[in-house]
Amino acid sequence: MSYHYERRTEEVNRLKAVTCDKCGTDCLTEWNNVEALHCAASWGYGSPFDGEHHSFDLCAKCYDEWTVKLGILPKIDCYGGPE
Ligand SMILES: [Zn+2]
Repeated sequence: MSYHYERRTEEVNRLKAVTCDKCGTDCLTEWNNVEALHCAASWGYGSPFDGEHHSFDLCAKCYDEWTVKLGILPKIDCYGGPE
């Protein structure tokens, strides 16, 4: 058995930025992680937005401001630390 290879160049779509929909901050880290809240809802019959899909992304700063402004206390669980 022998292996044969071909050399070719392929185009790939690489995520370049994820911007906050409130302030425009790029939420993509240098390690290619997205540090943002993605919020989405598909509204159905009987709602004021029947048949519409709404979504937005917020950076950590805008998320924090939003939760304080709305008086939301998010449930917070820590991950990745020693147990
Ligand atoms: Zn923001």
